[in-house]
Amino acid sequence: MGEQQETLIARLSEWIQESSKIVFFGGAGVSTESGIPDFRSQDGLYHTKYRYPPEMIISHSFFVRNPEEFYRFYKDRMLYPDAEPNDAHKALAAWEAEGRLRSVITQNIDGLHQKAGSRRVLELHGSVLRNYCTRCKKAFPLEYVMQAEGIPCCDACGAIVKPDVVLYEESLDDRILREAVRDISEADMLIVGGTSLVVYPAAGLIDYYRGKRLVLINKDETARDSAADLCIHGKIGEVFRQVREQESRRP
Ligand code: NAD
Repeated sequence: MGEQQETLIARLSEWIQESSKIVFFGGAGVSTESGIPDFRSQDGLYHTKYRYPPEMIISHSFFVRNPEEFYRFYKDRMLYPDAEPNDAHKALAAWEAEGRLRSVITQNIDGLHQKAGSRRVLELHGSVLRNYCTRCKKAFPLEYVMQAEGIPCCDACGAIVKPDVVLYEESLDDRILREAVRDISEADMLIVGGTSLVVYPAAGLIDYYRGKRLVLINKDETARDSAADLCIHGKIGEVFRQVREQESRRP
């Protein structure tokens, strides 16, 4: 680790120690170290070859028009039931338990923050773990969708089952959005990590932060790097592991 990186991590660690209302806002990059590909990295989902572009397949109109193709892609590329939380998820859960962190706001749909022990998780884009019948609203677990051959249909009424995931063209849950805005505007520190900050309205959330400790942690550069009070380029699981190590060495 370069000297400059070490200084940045030491500052991050110090700020975390001094905070009691941290909000973390993250995206797909938080789960790549758990083996789940993101969308926009070089080895991300958008660079794979498919009959239709992924952005089109995971849109609401495509789901309605061509559910078979939707589910072929979705089951093949978006479900990772065996993935385990990495050091980023674990550090966030620990900071919440220690009373430093107030909430995790995530664009991810994989449920790994909860699996790591985080309690207040605002899922802006829903979760693959929840699925509902589009007609009678009966709930189904992930296994039901995975085990269905082709399109999963409701065992009560026969209608198609849809994941509780916000597809392109669909709007975000108003209540979750309002809570996210409130948490961010009251935060004493905002850590943004593993997101390309290009998917709106989620990416616009960081504008509600009013404090002086905006931290950006991302593998690649983002359009918002220059707005950050602290910007670290690196893998977020590794960065947080180093922060936790520094914490454990404190007297
Ligand atoms: P994105 O794919 O647009 O961007 C991911 C960003 O994370 C990139 O800038 C990349 O450089 C960075 N990154 C990758 N690995 C990293 C690491 N280990 N440490 C730090 N940074 C890393 O993803 P996004 O901004 O979250 O937005 C796209 C949409 O992708 C979201 O709506 C989300 O629902 C969906 N998505 C979710 C999952 C998941 O649930 N795990 C996976 C893929 C996509």
